[in-house]
Amino acid sequence: MCGGVRESGTTLFSVDLGHGVVVVRNVPASVCSQCGEALLDDETAGELERIVDDARAHKRQAEVVEMG
Ligand SMILES: [Zn+2]
Repeated sequence: MCGGVRESGTTLFSVDLGHGVVVVRNVPASVCSQCGEALLDDETAGELERIVDDARAHKRQAEVVEMG
């Protein structure tokens, strides 16, 4: 929280699962104009959780998902 102005935009989400990585592009987020910090709403966070769970279940080495 740097006090910058938040604007709606998109961000890149990535997570390392150990056996592989998941990258989600074009994630809708509220992005700080000053530091670039992105905040996700609950719906988007839940969607990301499903994507990560799916990738974990299938043990894919690399998963790139486009959102929105
Ligand atoms: Zn900021």
